[in-house]
Amino acid sequence: MRICHQCQTEMIADCNVNVEGGLYGIKISKKGGGIFRRASAKPKAAVCPDCGNVAFYIEDPRAFRV
Ligand SMILES: [Zn+2]
Repeated sequence: MRICHQCQTEMIADCNVNVEGGLYGIKISKKGGGIFRRASAKPKAAVCPDCGNVAFYIEDPRAFRV
């Protein structure tokens, strides 16, 4: 469960992220120490139904910790 930072309302998670007008989604990546240590993920969004705040998150943040 995600709570809005602005108003502490429970956010609607698991929303897809797309760039308007294109077929391309946003991808977040981080270079690691080698070709197999590169972390990447497609972000998801959580939307606050009360104030409209949007938060991005990924499902496997541990892959970025290296
Ligand atoms: Zn809010």
